[in-house]
Amino acid sequence: MYKKFISFLQKIENNIFPGRCAACHQTGPAICPACRAKIKSLPIICPLCGQKESPLGIICSKCDNPYSFDGLIAYGSYEDSNLKAALHALKYQGAKEIGYLLGKMLGRRLLATWRHHRGDTPILIPLPLHPRRLRERDYNQALLLTEGIATITKWPIQSVGLNRTRYQVPSARLGYRNRQQHDKIFAYKGDDLSNHIVILIDDVITTGETASAAALALKDGGTKTVIVATMARAS
Ligand SMILES: [Zn+2]
Ligand SMILES: [Zn+2]
Repeated sequence: MYKKFISFLQKIENNIFPGRCAACHQTGPAICPACRAKIKSLPIICPLCGQKESPLGIICSKCDNPYSFDGLIAYGSYEDSNLKAALHALKYQGAKEIGYLLGKMLGRRLLATWRHHRGDTPILIPLPLHPRRLRERDYNQALLLTEGIATITKWPIQSVGLNRTRYQVPSARLGYRNRQQHDKIFAYKGDDLSNHIVILIDDVITTGETASAAALALKDGGTKTVIVATMARAS
């Protein structure tokens, strides 16, 4: 309740005093060009062993993949203070414009790595919020990022079909015993994905469990390959 109230106040503040950069607080866009330029991009590598040269961030053949997704592309690190400030403002302070601005950065990165891959155009699917969380926040930050990506890549967005069926407690609180249940927090009821590679979009990846559960549901929808793309990777 207290947290909700603070987030409500931050939203009001954002509306009364618009136009300040979330990182340097100068008047201007919600994350200014100078702070955006300072965000360091990570190399696109196997996310498990860190081996270079892995187009699309595919988990390499030497690594045992514990996830239901096949690759991971993270734009930057959550330790990066400018990126962290921007993502915090996007998620908790109603700074929706940031989703679009950061999404364009991620879109350029995805387009560059996709040139190594001669397959079909991928489908962009934002990680959905539970309807209850969506009501609380009014918007899905992953969808805003996805819209930013699509303005650069022109790839299609599919924002219906993948549903979060259980209201989830933060994953740090989940014990090993709950993992099995954790895998069933998403369900897919959309068009057949058999002939498509899916790029699943989220703002931050931490343990990878949530993205993996979503990827599992997407594989039920027929896709053989799911690449997770996020703005930040938290280690
Ligand atoms: Zn700034
Ligand atoms: Zn590897």
